[in-house]
Amino acid sequence: MLVVTKTHPGLVRENNEDTILVQEPYIYAVADGMGGHASGEIASRSALKAFGAATHSLRRDSSEHIRDTLIEAVKKANNHVLKMAVSNDEYTGMGTTLTAVYLPGNGTAYFCHVGDSRLYIYRDNTLEKRSHDHTYVEDLKDKGCITSEEAAIHPERHILMQAIGVEENIHVQCEIFSITPNDRLLICSDGLSDMVTDAEIAEIMLEADTEICATNLLEKALNNGGRDNVSLILIDMAQSPKKAEEVSENV
Ligand code: MG
Repeated sequence: MLVVTKTHPGLVRENNEDTILVQEPYIYAVADGMGGHASGEIASRSALKAFGAATHSLRRDSSEHIRDTLIEAVKKANNHVLKMAVSNDEYTGMGTTLTAVYLPGNGTAYFCHVGDSRLYIYRDNTLEKRSHDHTYVEDLKDKGCITSEEAAIHPERHILMQAIGVEENIHVQCEIFSITPNDRLLICSDGLSDMVTDAEIAEIMLEADTEICATNLLEKALNNGGRDNVSLILIDMAQSPKKAEEVSENV
C-alpha cells in the first residue's frame, strides 16, 4: 500500500483549516474546519487528535467491534470539539467535517464520515463516491428536487446539515466494504471536489504513478481556481508496504 498526502491553503485563503491524519499503518482521515478567526483550524486539528486517540484500540478489536469503535471515536471527537466551542468565546460556532478510513490489511475497508469531505473509490477505471454529503443541497438532490449537475453549482452547496462540534447528536455514516489490490482510495476536502469535477478526477486517476497522480489532483484544484483549502489522501492498494513507510517519513 502506498499513501500520498497533499494539503495546500489554496489561492484565496490565508489559513489552511484542513487537517490530515495519517496514523500508520491503518487510519487515514481528512477534516475540514470552519469558524471565525483561526477556530476552523483548531476544530479540525482537535477533532482528528481526539479521533486518533480513540482509534488506537482498533488494532486489538475483533471485526464485529470495529464499526462500534469507529462510531464511538467520531462521537468522542464531536464531544471534544463541542466542549471547546461552548467553553471559549473565540471558538463559538466552530466545527469540522471528518472523513476517515481504517484499513487493517485484510481486504476490508471501514469507513466513517460526517460532513462534506469525501471518500472515493477508483476501481477498474471507474470513480465512485462512497461518502454521502451531509449538505442541504444533497438533501434536495435526494428528494429529487434538483439534479446532480444543479447541485454541483448550487449557491447554497456549502451549507452543512451536520458537522463535528456543532450539536450533541450526530449521525455518523459508517460502512464496511471489500477492497481489491488494484483499488485506489481518495479522501479529500471540498477544496478538491468543489474545484475538480468527478469526471476530471477520474481522468487524472489514469496516471499510474501515485505521487504524480496526487500532485496532479492538487494542481488541477489550484488551476481551476483554488478557492478553498485543498487536502487529499491518495491510497494505492497495489503498491508495496515498504514504499508506504518511505512516504510516511516524508509526510
Ligand atoms: Mg473546505
